[in-house]
Amino acid sequence: MAKTVDAATMRQINKGYVTEIIYNQGPLSRMEISQVTGLNKATVSSLVDELIAEQFVQEIGLGASNGGRKPVMLKINASAGFCIGVDVQITHMKTILADLSGGIVYQHMRPIAAIHGLLSQYELEELLVEEIQRAIQQAPPSCHGILGAGIALPGIVNYRTGSVFYLPNIEIRDWNLTDSLSKSFSFPVFVDNDGNCGAWSIYRERHQQNLVFVNVGIGIGTGIVVNGHLYRGQDGIAGEFGHTSIAAMGAVCACGNYGCWEQYASEQALLRYLREVEEIPASLELSPNLVSLAVDKAATSPGYQRAFRTLGQYLGIGIANIVNSLNPGLVVIGGTMAQAAPLFLPEVQYVVGHRAMASNKQVCLTVANEDAIVLGAAQLPISNTLLHSPLAES
Ligand SMILES: [Zn+2]
Repeated sequence: MAKTVDAATMRQINKGYVTEIIYNQGPLSRMEISQVTGLNKATVSSLVDELIAEQFVQEIGLGASNGGRKPVMLKINASAGFCIGVDVQITHMKTILADLSGGIVYQHMRPIAAIHGLLSQYELEELLVEEIQRAIQQAPPSCHGILGAGIALPGIVNYRTGSVFYLPNIEIRDWNLTDSLSKSFSFPVFVDNDGNCGAWSIYRERHQQNLVFVNVGIGIGTGIVVNGHLYRGQDGIAGEFGHTSIAAMGAVCACGNYGCWEQYASEQALLRYLREVEEIPASLELSPNLVSLAVDKAATSPGYQRAFRTLGQYLGIGIANIVNSLNPGLVVIGGTMAQAAPLFLPEVQYVVGHRAMASNKQVCLTVANEDAIVLGAAQLPISNTLLHSPLAES
């Protein structure tokens, strides 16, 4: 049976929709918003007036004329409020404070040792509270203050309920993180998978309708955008390409499976390849600096260069599987491994060129900037409070 929606609810929905259009496509005139949304001009003007009164939207002067009067252009008021984003990885967590346009006004990187159960969920929660409180103190004065915090996690999470199902390499299960953190803060807290955060952040930046973000760190996570929407799957856990098998009886994985892609193309794999090619210093271990140290060594060591090429071959195998499955227009490699791209990307391109089919061979392969995931996390409160709908999904 079709749901009926009362006028007040419909106005809220339309207001979120107008905000979303200005947020994603601004600066725009009222007429352009009317054309994009299909809402009549009077409704758009009334909603825009409300958004201006609330200081979420501002007029920024006159745009180009289409023959008549020059229109007044509108954009999101970046300094109306701020959002906190946290990217939790196995060896580090990065926290930012971002304005409503995604401008980073504060950032802090904190090394952590969370691999294989070294950090309990309570200890991780304490660290998150500390880092978020630190970010709160850095917030400039604004009319709406902090809208919320978004946390990107490396594993299977339910973004609707805010609960963690399983973080494979951290060994944390069944934890309602949003419930726990909400007790510490007066603003809402949201969680999502790190690959999804990266994918959505890249989508907002590039407006490519079909893309895959591949987060390569200690493990591999991916986020999938299909036709301009995040693809989450039936239970919200799509995108675990890192745990697809590429070797039938291969290396055992933290997830319990054998031969998972992330065992061959992640930081864990890089460390193994380095040990295979030469003696490596004890200081080279799974840490926030592993990739940058290995990149430095590779400048003079053919063995290190070979290890990165091997990693690139396996990264290419997994990406060829992805592009053959999804036919995206763009594949973006992010995470800590992205900084080593010159050492492995040619191999990835070579392997994809040979293993992918038809036009997938020429898929655009590129590298994300280092803040893609944490910016996506900081966008979660905006998507969930100001815009048309929670992060779009199909
Ligand atoms: Zn696995």
